[in-house]
Amino acid sequence: MPPQPDDCLFCMLVRDGDHVHRADGFVAINDINPLAPVHVLVLPERHVDTFRDVSEFDADEAKRMLEFVAETARVVGLEDYRVVVNVGPGGGQTVFHLHWHILGGQTLTERNL
Ligand code: 5GP
Ligand code: ZN
Repeated sequence: MPPQPDDCLFCMLVRDGDHVHRADGFVAINDINPLAPVHVLVLPERHVDTFRDVSEFDADEAKRMLEFVAETARVVGLEDYRVVVNVGPGGGQTVFHLHWHILGGQTLTERNL
């Protein structure tokens, strides 16, 4: 793995976190502050700041990332769920290592996460 930003929380969790699923350059962890009965975060192992920089992934890697999101939802037992990516502070992003929220385990009617 190439050098990662030393001060990135999610790079640290990629290395040392409690992974609910890991494969193919991606990891999934439980969110520390769950907003639903199941709230999992999917992170690429390699550091990319934000979804805005999605072009840093080549087409194959981007496809595998999306497949990993869907596979993680299956692994944690979800059939219906919501996938959210917060982009930038104005979009609610607080950790600047790209991640996908998977929320489920209840009927999700609330639109303002
Ligand atoms: P964002 O607000 O950037 O879209 O999402 C960051 C998420 O990371 C939040 O839902 C927050 O609860 C979660 N989070 C922050 N610190 C930690 C941590 O140390 N461990 C885990 N597992 N999740 C964290
Ligand atoms: Zn990082």
